Amino acid sequence: MSTPRRIARISGISLPSALVLLCGSVVAVPTAAQTTATERAAAAEVIRQIEELQDRLDPEGRAAELVSRSDPARTRLLQEVAALWESDMRHLSDWIGRNPEVGWEERQAVDTLTKVARAHGFDVEVGVAGLETAWVATWVSPAGPEGPTLGLIGEYDALRDIDGPFHGDQHNAQTPVAFSAAFALQELMAGSGVPGRIRVFGTPAEEVGPPAKTIMFDAGVFDGTDILVRSHSAVETSRAGAGFGVCCLNINEVRYTFHGRPAHQLTSWNGRNALSAAVRFYSSVDGLRSTFRPEASIQGVIPEGGVAPNVVPARAVVDYYIRYPDEVYLEHISRMMDDAARGAALATGTEVEIDRYGEYRDGVTLGTLEELYFAHARALGAPKLNEVRQRPAGYEETGWVTRSIPGVGVSVYSSTDTYHTHGMEESAFTSVGHTGFRMDAQIMAAVLHDYLTDEGLRAAVAAEHEVLQGLLSEYHERLREVYAPEIGGSDGSGSTGSGS
Ligand SMILES: [Zn+2]
Repeated sequence: MSTPRRIARISGISLPSALVLLCGSVVAVPTAAQTTATERAAAAEVIRQIEELQDRLDPEGRAAELVSRSDPARTRLLQEVAALWESDMRHLSDWIGRNPEVGWEERQAVDTLTKVARAHGFDVEVGVAGLETAWVATWVSPAGPEGPTLGLIGEYDALRDIDGPFHGDQHNAQTPVAFSAAFALQELMAGSGVPGRIRVFGTPAEEVGPPAKTIMFDAGVFDGTDILVRSHSAVETSRAGAGFGVCCLNINEVRYTFHGRPAHQLTSWNGRNALSAAVRFYSSVDGLRSTFRPEASIQGVIPEGGVAPNVVPARAVVDYYIRYPDEVYLEHISRMMDDAARGAALATGTEVEIDRYGEYRDGVTLGTLEELYFAHARALGAPKLNEVRQRPAGYEETGWVTRSIPGVGVSVYSSTDTYHTHGMEESAFTSVGHTGFRMDAQIMAAVLHDYLTDEGLRAAVAAEHEVLQGLLSEYHERLREVYAPEIGGSDGSGSTGSGS
């Protein structure tokens, strides 16, 4: 997959296991995002600068001041969010919960949700970025579009299980939560003549690849959005520290397709065996493992390996998820594996096509917005507050959107059981889930309201985001220097070409 758009936009600058994608709040590890001793050493100077930035911006103090302000309009806004949630959106959440659909097949959910958005005066575009179940709902204030563009992300895909799909990660609630916040803000902006736009992004298939938000980002769907908020189920109410990181390692999803030539078994010399190439490649990767740092996690399957034993297989596919804590070393692993695939093709007289169909990267987490979210959660009396700052991971699982657009993930305690369980699904229908979701919506509305009305907050968010973007690039530069003796060149270019 080529990434010119991302490279151009972010100068220097999600869980998929076989079935389960990533959810930002799965891992609750405090302290810095860096995993290995090498990464921590390379990040030391950057971490010092992040701490300095936090001292300068004082996100906690700013949040405390903003939240303690007497603001009758905000108080009314939060009441309105609660009323919307209790009257309609709670039922919508339950309905999606009782009608689960897996990633890329969420047609009923999309149909229902987009009808609701249209009924509230939003312009809806379905099928954005070429994805059938992705959509964007946009509302422009009657006072004009010149103000900030407030974005809300909503998912709706269910998990796969042998007994059929189920909402074991409570994605059923996400869009009704986003709607409760969006519709209340809409009323406030229209009623008070506040210019700006509200956009709700319907993002499908969080639990399966390829990563929908990356595809939508590359297609420019999020362009022009000033801030993004998203909710997610949670087993406690916590916020992350400022910086960059990812919940479940940086990932390249790569499909290697070997093309050979078919022939009858008894005249196999006329053919070129693609399965032989695939098996050779698969074994080569196992042979490479000892040359990679031990934190690498590389797992592959062979979903296609021919059709009949009496025909030389003309096509075979090997599908890998390649994970490493940082993206610099990850690229090195990918290059070595691509070379191994080409070697296997060369050795068997076949050809290989390399398709990197998914990428997940470290996301950017802003102290200004995390502290504001948490201060509002505290003020609302959110349950199970964990005062320990969690590891930064970005507010959406692919990382790419967070690098380009400031935002925050809001996750109030909503389940008595852990992630991806039938217990978590059940909690979504009880007062535990309903209360958490209502508070998610109120906090999202409050954060967007503060952003809309407080110029100082907008400036602080923009400044923090810009500095962190730069520091992320700097971190990668340091890593390239450190890894240079191993990965072949201070530019990290290693062998030639990405082959994708
Ligand atoms: Zn999730």
